[in-house]
Amino acid sequence: MLGPPGAGKGTQAERLARRRGVPRISTGDILREAVQAETPLGRAARAIMDAGRLVGDDVMVGIVRERLERPDATAGWVLDGFPRTVAQAQAFDRMLDRTWPVAIISVEVPEHALIERLGARRICVKCGWSPPPGVTECERCGGQLVRRKDDTVDVVKERLRVYLRDTQPLLDLYHEQPGFRTVDGDQTPDAVAADIAAAVASVVGANS
Ligand code: AMP
Repeated sequence: MLGPPGAGKGTQAERLARRRGVPRISTGDILREAVQAETPLGRAARAIMDAGRLVGDDVMVGIVRERLERPDATAGWVLDGFPRTVAQAQAFDRMLDRTWPVAIISVEVPEHALIERLGARRICVKCGWSPPPGVTECERCGGQLVRRKDDTVDVVKERLRVYLRDTQPLLDLYHEQPGFRTVDGDQTPDAVAADIAAAVASVVGANS
Protein backbone atom coordinates (compact mmCIF):
# COMPACT_ATOMS: atom_id res chain seq x y z
CA MET A 1 0.00 0.00 0.00
CA LEU A 2 1.49 3.28 -1.12
CA GLY A 3 0.64 6.82 -0.12
CA PRO A 4 2.08 9.92 1.49
CA PRO A 5 2.45 10.26 5.26
CA GLY A 6 -0.99 10.96 6.70
CA ALA A 7 -2.89 9.26 3.87
CA GLY A 8 -4.34 6.75 6.34
CA LYS A 9 -2.19 3.87 5.07
CA GLY A 10 -1.64 2.39 8.51
CA THR A 11 -5.31 2.29 9.48
CA GLN A 12 -6.37 1.09 6.06
CA ALA A 13 -3.62 -1.53 5.84
CA GLU A 14 -4.78 -2.91 9.17
CA ARG A 15 -8.41 -3.05 8.05
CA LEU A 16 -7.49 -4.73 4.80
CA ALA A 17 -5.25 -7.26 6.54
CA ARG A 18 -8.06 -8.17 8.94
CA ARG A 19 -10.53 -8.47 6.12
CA ARG A 20 -8.26 -10.75 4.11
CA GLY A 21 -6.94 -12.72 7.10
CA VAL A 22 -3.29 -11.94 6.42
CA PRO A 23 -0.69 -10.06 8.49
CA ARG A 24 -0.15 -6.34 8.13
CA ILE A 25 3.54 -5.68 7.86
CA SER A 26 4.39 -2.10 8.72
CA THR A 27 8.05 -1.18 8.42
CA GLY A 28 7.38 1.95 10.49
CA ASP A 29 5.97 -0.20 13.32
CA ILE A 30 8.89 -2.65 13.11
CA LEU A 31 11.30 0.28 13.42
CA ARG A 32 9.33 1.95 16.26
CA GLU A 33 9.36 -1.36 18.17
CA ALA A 34 13.12 -1.61 17.66
CA VAL A 35 13.55 1.95 18.93
CA GLN A 36 11.48 1.18 22.05
CA ALA A 37 13.37 -2.05 22.70
CA GLU A 38 16.67 -0.21 22.16
CA THR A 39 18.03 -2.89 19.85
CA PRO A 40 21.05 -2.02 17.66
CA LEU A 41 18.61 -1.40 14.78
CA GLY A 42 16.50 0.85 16.98
CA ARG A 43 19.51 2.83 18.15
CA ALA A 44 20.66 3.34 14.56
CA ALA A 45 17.17 4.26 13.29
CA ARG A 46 16.00 6.61 16.05
CA ALA A 47 17.64 9.86 14.92
CA ILE A 48 16.80 9.23 11.27
CA MET A 49 13.13 8.66 12.09
CA ASP A 50 12.95 11.63 14.43
CA ALA A 51 14.23 13.81 11.60
CA GLY A 52 11.67 12.43 9.13
CA ARG A 53 14.31 10.92 6.86
CA LEU A 54 14.55 7.39 5.49
CA VAL A 55 16.44 4.48 7.01
CA GLY A 56 18.94 2.93 4.56
CA ASP A 57 17.68 0.73 1.75
CA ASP A 58 19.82 -2.32 2.63
CA VAL A 59 18.58 -2.32 6.21
CA MET A 60 14.95 -2.01 5.12
CA VAL A 61 15.22 -4.68 2.44
CA GLY A 62 16.79 -7.04 5.00
CA ILE A 63 13.99 -6.39 7.50
CA VAL A 64 11.26 -7.05 4.93
CA ARG A 65 12.94 -10.13 3.48
CA GLU A 66 13.18 -11.68 6.92
CA ARG A 67 9.60 -10.74 7.82
CA LEU A 68 8.12 -12.17 4.62
CA GLU A 69 9.82 -15.49 5.35
CA ARG A 70 7.96 -15.93 8.63
CA PRO A 71 5.26 -18.68 8.57
CA ASP A 72 2.31 -16.29 9.00
CA ALA A 73 3.22 -14.56 5.74
CA THR A 74 3.06 -17.60 3.47
CA ALA A 75 -0.56 -17.00 2.39
CA GLY A 76 -0.18 -13.29 1.71
CA TRP A 77 0.36 -9.99 3.49
CA VAL A 78 -0.41 -6.32 3.41
CA LEU A 79 2.78 -4.25 3.25
CA ASP A 80 2.53 -0.77 4.73
CA GLY A 81 5.39 1.69 4.34
CA PHE A 82 7.56 -0.40 2.03
CA PRO A 83 8.90 -0.01 -0.62
CA ARG A 84 9.65 3.69 -0.22
CA THR A 85 12.44 4.18 -2.73
CA VAL A 86 13.13 2.93 -6.24
CA ALA A 87 16.05 0.83 -4.92
CA GLN A 88 13.74 -0.82 -2.36
CA ALA A 89 11.16 -1.47 -5.06
CA GLN A 90 13.74 -3.13 -7.29
CA ALA A 91 15.00 -5.36 -4.47
CA PHE A 92 11.40 -6.16 -3.50
CA ASP A 93 10.57 -7.10 -7.06
CA ARG A 94 13.33 -9.70 -6.98
CA MET A 95 11.93 -11.09 -3.70
CA LEU A 96 8.44 -11.69 -5.04
CA ASP A 97 7.11 -15.01 -6.19
CA ARG A 98 6.01 -14.38 -9.77
CA THR A 99 3.13 -16.86 -9.55
CA TRP A 100 1.26 -14.62 -7.07
CA PRO A 101 -0.75 -11.61 -8.10
CA VAL A 102 0.22 -8.44 -6.23
CA ALA A 103 -2.16 -5.53 -5.79
CA ILE A 104 -0.39 -2.17 -5.57
CA ILE A 105 -2.75 0.32 -3.98
CA SER A 106 -1.94 4.01 -4.08
CA VAL A 107 -3.98 5.96 -1.51
CA GLU A 108 -4.26 9.53 -2.75
CA VAL A 109 -4.93 12.53 -0.51
CA PRO A 110 -4.36 16.25 -1.32
CA GLU A 111 -1.40 17.84 0.48
CA HIS A 112 -3.41 20.35 2.55
CA ALA A 113 -5.47 17.49 4.01
CA LEU A 114 -2.30 15.54 4.88
CA ILE A 115 -0.82 18.39 6.88
CA GLU A 116 -4.10 18.85 8.75
CA ARG A 117 -4.41 15.16 9.51
CA LEU A 118 -0.83 14.73 10.69
CA GLY A 119 -1.16 17.78 12.95
CA ALA A 120 -4.20 16.20 14.63
CA ARG A 121 -2.95 12.61 14.73
CA ARG A 122 -2.56 10.74 18.02
CA ILE A 123 -1.40 7.17 18.52
CA CYS A 124 -1.72 4.78 21.46
CA VAL A 125 1.48 4.66 23.47
CA LYS A 126 0.99 0.92 24.12
CA CYS A 127 -0.43 -0.65 20.95
CA GLY A 128 0.15 2.00 18.26
CA TRP A 129 -3.54 2.29 17.34
CA SER A 130 -4.47 5.58 15.70
CA PRO A 131 -8.02 6.68 16.60
CA PRO A 132 -10.38 8.83 14.56
CA PRO A 133 -10.51 12.51 15.61
CA GLY A 134 -12.21 13.26 18.94
CA VAL A 135 -11.31 9.97 20.65
CA THR A 136 -9.36 10.53 23.87
CA GLU A 137 -8.42 7.01 24.97
CA CYS A 138 -7.32 3.90 23.06
CA GLU A 139 -10.42 1.81 22.37
CA ARG A 140 -8.33 -1.32 21.93
CA CYS A 141 -6.23 -1.44 25.09
CA GLY A 142 -7.13 1.65 27.11
CA GLY A 143 -3.62 3.05 26.61
CA GLN A 144 -2.75 6.74 26.59
CA LEU A 145 -2.92 8.61 23.27
CA VAL A 146 0.15 10.66 22.40
CA ARG A 147 1.55 12.52 19.40
CA ARG A 148 4.05 10.64 17.31
CA LYS A 149 7.47 12.19 17.75
CA ASP A 150 7.73 12.74 13.98
CA ASP A 151 4.33 14.47 13.67
CA THR A 152 5.61 17.95 14.55
CA VAL A 153 5.20 20.63 11.86
CA ASP A 154 8.87 20.69 10.81
CA VAL A 155 9.25 16.93 10.69
CA VAL A 156 5.95 16.53 8.82
CA LYS A 157 7.21 18.97 6.18
CA GLU A 158 10.46 17.01 5.89
CA ARG A 159 8.56 13.71 5.59
CA LEU A 160 6.39 15.13 2.82
CA ARG A 161 9.48 16.49 1.06
CA VAL A 162 11.21 13.09 1.33
CA TYR A 163 8.02 11.41 0.09
CA LEU A 164 7.84 13.61 -3.01
CA ARG A 165 11.52 13.17 -3.76
CA ASP A 166 12.07 9.46 -2.98
CA THR A 167 8.72 7.68 -2.93
CA GLN A 168 6.55 9.47 -5.48
CA PRO A 169 8.80 8.20 -8.35
CA LEU A 170 7.61 4.69 -7.46
CA LEU A 171 4.20 5.60 -8.78
CA ASP A 172 5.68 6.10 -12.25
CA LEU A 173 7.36 2.74 -11.91
CA TYR A 174 4.21 0.96 -10.75
CA HIS A 175 1.45 2.57 -12.67
CA GLU A 176 2.17 0.48 -15.76
CA GLN A 177 1.80 -2.74 -13.77
CA PRO A 178 -1.43 -4.74 -14.11
CA GLY A 179 -2.04 -4.81 -10.33
CA PHE A 180 -1.81 -1.04 -9.84
CA ARG A 181 -4.93 0.77 -8.56
CA THR A 182 -5.47 4.25 -7.16
CA VAL A 183 -7.96 4.93 -4.36
CA ASP A 184 -9.33 8.30 -3.22
CA GLY A 185 -8.12 8.58 0.38
CA ASP A 186 -9.98 11.83 1.00
CA GLN A 187 -13.25 10.16 2.03
CA THR A 188 -14.57 8.62 5.24
CA PRO A 189 -12.43 5.71 6.51
CA ASP A 190 -15.27 3.28 5.71
CA ALA A 191 -15.54 4.53 2.13
CA VAL A 192 -11.76 4.31 1.66
CA ALA A 193 -11.75 0.78 3.12
CA ALA A 194 -14.54 -0.31 0.75
CA ASP A 195 -12.72 1.14 -2.26
CA ILE A 196 -9.46 -0.54 -1.25
CA ALA A 197 -11.18 -3.90 -0.72
CA ALA A 198 -12.78 -3.65 -4.16
CA ALA A 199 -9.49 -2.62 -5.77
CA VAL A 200 -7.63 -5.53 -4.15
CA ALA A 201 -10.37 -8.00 -5.10
CA SER A 202 -10.14 -6.82 -8.71
CA VAL A 203 -6.49 -7.87 -8.75
CA VAL A 204 -6.20 -10.93 -6.50
CA GLY A 205 -9.83 -12.13 -6.42
CA ALA A 206 -12.34 -11.92 -3.59
CA ASN A 207 -10.99 -14.73 -1.42
CA SER A 208 -7.48 -15.65 -2.38
P1 AMP B 1 5.78 5.26 8.87
O1 AMP B 1 5.18 4.76 10.14
O2 AMP B 1 5.54 4.34 7.70
O3 AMP B 1 5.40 6.69 8.59
O4 AMP B 1 7.37 5.26 9.10
C1 AMP B 1 7.97 6.05 10.09
C2 AMP B 1 9.43 6.28 9.78
O5 AMP B 1 10.13 5.02 9.72
C3 AMP B 1 9.72 6.94 8.43
O6 AMP B 1 9.60 8.35 8.48
C4 AMP B 1 11.14 6.48 8.18
O7 AMP B 1 12.07 7.20 8.96
C5 AMP B 1 11.12 5.04 8.70
N1 AMP B 1 10.73 4.07 7.65
C6 AMP B 1 9.59 3.30 7.62
N2 AMP B 1 9.56 2.53 6.52
C7 AMP B 1 10.69 2.83 5.81
C8 AMP B 1 11.23 2.40 4.58
N3 AMP B 1 10.60 1.48 3.81
N4 AMP B 1 12.41 2.92 4.18
C9 AMP B 1 13.07 3.82 4.93
N5 AMP B 1 12.62 4.30 6.10
C10 AMP B 1 11.44 3.80 6.55
